[in-house]
Amino acid sequence: MVKKGDLLYAWTTDAALAKKAECGGAVTQLLKFALENKMVDAVLAVRKGYDLYDAVPVVITNPKDLDQTAGSLHCGSILLSKLVKNYLDKAEKKKIGITVKGCDLMGLLELARRKEVNLDNILMIGVNCGGSVNPTTARKMIKDKFGVDPDTVHKEEIDKGQFIIEYEGGHKGISMDELEEAGYGRRSNCRRCKVKVPRQADLACGNWGVIGDKAGKATFVEVCSEKGANLLDKAVSAKKVATEPAPAKGVEVRAKTENAMLKLGEKWRKKDFATLAPSLWETIEKETSRCIKCYTCIDKCPVCFTSAEMLKADSTMVRRGVIPADPMFHMRRFAHISDTCINCGQCEELCPMEIPLALFSHAIRVEGDRVFQPKLGASPYTN
Ligand code: FAD
Ligand code: SF4
Ligand code: SF4
Ligand code: SF4
Repeated sequence: MVKKGDLLYAWTTDAALAKKAECGGAVTQLLKFALENKMVDAVLAVRKGYDLYDAVPVVITNPKDLDQTAGSLHCGSILLSKLVKNYLDKAEKKKIGITVKGCDLMGLLELARRKEVNLDNILMIGVNCGGSVNPTTARKMIKDKFGVDPDTVHKEEIDKGQFIIEYEGGHKGISMDELEEAGYGRRSNCRRCKVKVPRQADLACGNWGVIGDKAGKATFVEVCSEKGANLLDKAVSAKKVATEPAPAKGVEVRAKTENAMLKLGEKWRKKDFATLAPSLWETIEKETSRCIKCYTCIDKCPVCFTSAEMLKADSTMVRRGVIPADPMFHMRRFAHISDTCINCGQCEELCPMEIPLALFSHAIRVEGDRVFQPKLGASPYTN
């Protein structure tokens, strides 16, 4: 019997699926099982589009189609949470299964706080996340640092601190530290990320801590809720997923890796925030002066929509397209999100004027977190 709090190795019993999957296929198999058994009406996951630099969110209602979502795409910078609000009726009437990274999870929790999604109808399968790489940066990095044509790459992975590619004619890995010192590697918000293991999801799955003959062939599952325990238990009883208890050494390795990643994040926060000296506000004023008020940073932000409605109805100072942007446009936006920015990076990633918006909002949130609750990565919601 699977229980909340269990720490397990898990893998699919479907050999064909295991081959496509990242680390044994438990995640895809569990979502498939949930769909087949009407525990959810649809699954929101990610599949490869044109190539591996093209991560596409997809809603699946036929269990047979789920195999196409197996595998991890690290060169995509998507956030799934707002899609539930915008396109899936806030999960009000239908039950939805979702694979969530830390930022997807935090986005859903923030939306739930605003009653913009119904968590009771959402099954969240969490995946640990060391970070993702902007697709354009990934192409440039592979060309410049690996000396490989990015179009010949058919597989990429991040393993043991290395970014590894497989391409026509070989494979190559370079340490992430080296790539990041050279200005490549993970997105800057990912380097500072505070949620490495999404324990507020129903299950938290990842390869950290999978050792011995199961390394690469199973995922480490932390059973975080009754809902997660029920799903895994039923899938094991139906012989769709196999499990074994995680060994003590694996648990230790997982904890050490997570801690090392959190420490690395702290290092990056210090480094990034130091660039804002001597004055955060003067830096914001200077950088945002080139804003064209396209509103992308508002439209894509998982926590900014209410203020977007308010801002849209407001004076010309904040109205879309009215340029040059009044500095108060940005001050208002930062004020609205100061206590809830989840550092997902969407605003910065998609800003056409390349303004480092997430750096600003993350710095403001971290400053506020020194005093106020809830802190980034924590939430009033628990399983
Ligand atoms: P699969 O059965 O292969 O299922 C993978 C699931 O991930 C699918 O549902 C797929 O749609 C979804 N997915 C793929 N790409 C994305 C994406 N970009 N955003 C959201 N969902 C996506 N584990 C660690 O232990 N350490 C790490 O550092 C780590 N980094 C990761 C970084 C990223 C960007 C991702 C997506 C995953 C990461 N993982 C990490 C988790 C790990 O790669 C596996 O997903 C996990 O072990 C489950 O393995 P599986 O074989 O059961 O998954
Ligand atoms: Fe992963 Fe965090 Fe980056 Fe999201 S923000 S992709 S959880 S490292
Ligand atoms: Fe301005 Fe960039 Fe936001 Fe567009 S995305 S409104 S350019 S800050
Ligand atoms: Fe994400 Fe930017 Fe919104 Fe913060 S402000 S939650 S980084 S989109």
